[in-house]
Amino acid sequence: MTEQVNVAKSAVPPHNRLGINYRDIPRRKISSLIIDAHTHTRDPALTREFLRAADAYGIGKIWTMAPLEDVDALREAFPGRFEFIAIPKWQNLGPGEDFIKEWRRRIDAFYARGSRLIKFHNAPGTQKRMGMNLDHPEMQSIMRQAYELGYHFMTHVGDPKAWFGPGKKYDPKDGHKSYLEQFEMLDRMLEKYPDRVHLGAHIGGSLEELDLLQRRLDRFPHYIVDSSATKWIVRGIAEQPLEPVREFFIRNQDRILFGSDLVVGEKYDFDHYASRYWVHLQQWETSYHGESPIDDPDAANGVPYLHGLNLPAAVLEKLYHINAEKWLFGKVLGKAPQPESLA
Ligand SMILES: [Zn+2]
Repeated sequence: MTEQVNVAKSAVPPHNRLGINYRDIPRRKISSLIIDAHTHTRDPALTREFLRAADAYGIGKIWTMAPLEDVDALREAFPGRFEFIAIPKWQNLGPGEDFIKEWRRRIDAFYARGSRLIKFHNAPGTQKRMGMNLDHPEMQSIMRQAYELGYHFMTHVGDPKAWFGPGKKYDPKDGHKSYLEQFEMLDRMLEKYPDRVHLGAHIGGSLEELDLLQRRLDRFPHYIVDSSATKWIVRGIAEQPLEPVREFFIRNQDRILFGSDLVVGEKYDFDHYASRYWVHLQQWETSYHGESPIDDPDAANGVPYLHGLNLPAAVLEKLYHINAEKWLFGKVLGKAPQPESLA
């Protein structure tokens, strides 16, 4: 019996533990195309399969953290589809000089290709590997270079709360700061550059502490967040009483942008990409209340749940495209696109 269960389990793909037909697209509440504000695409050949899923799920324009080497080719292969967020050369990641030098070069190179948003990935693991947090003088000087060129900012600060603490991934004995201490450097950065848009990835890393996030949003009118990181967001919402979370999304309806955090890679197929969009659709648009089809190693007792927020259509319009049009295309790029609709 045990063996049989194991066999059955191993045959279940991690993106589809419930056997959903992801090609059967659920009916959407609104007809506007969605802007995905947070993805990681790569070369056009690999990105094409991701776009099949994006097309099927009504995704229009896409903001990506593609490597510099892929920017020109992506733009040529998919004209008008992508906007590019400046990132360092992650293969160089380390405490050495090379990483910084190359990053400085890339800030200029991305800028020359039209990028006006720069991402600072400063989760605890990244801090440790590069030997710098946002307060580090080297990092401060990179920020200054980007600011002077005219960049707006994006950050990944924090990580799921469950990863912090003794015996966890971010153990204080390994020199990691606590979950709450992560945000002190973010507040300092927000204070320092109030005249630039600042996009906080993954609900600003604060989904599990919405009261604190509310205070940050109230204090810093230039701070906005994206909804990306499907497993984390879905788990973080399902673990809390639903009504206060729903109220948070309605109250902050002008400050939250849709993002998937989909990463393009050789090992992924249509169903993997589609699973994220399918789950996001259920999360924001419906009252779905049950198990999530996406496997989640951090879920309590190993069973991931998905509790839909059933947001009103007017809020979905903002989450899906109006906020990105206003903040990213308008304030960051200085051009506002016309909303696009599903054919
Ligand atoms: Zn990401």
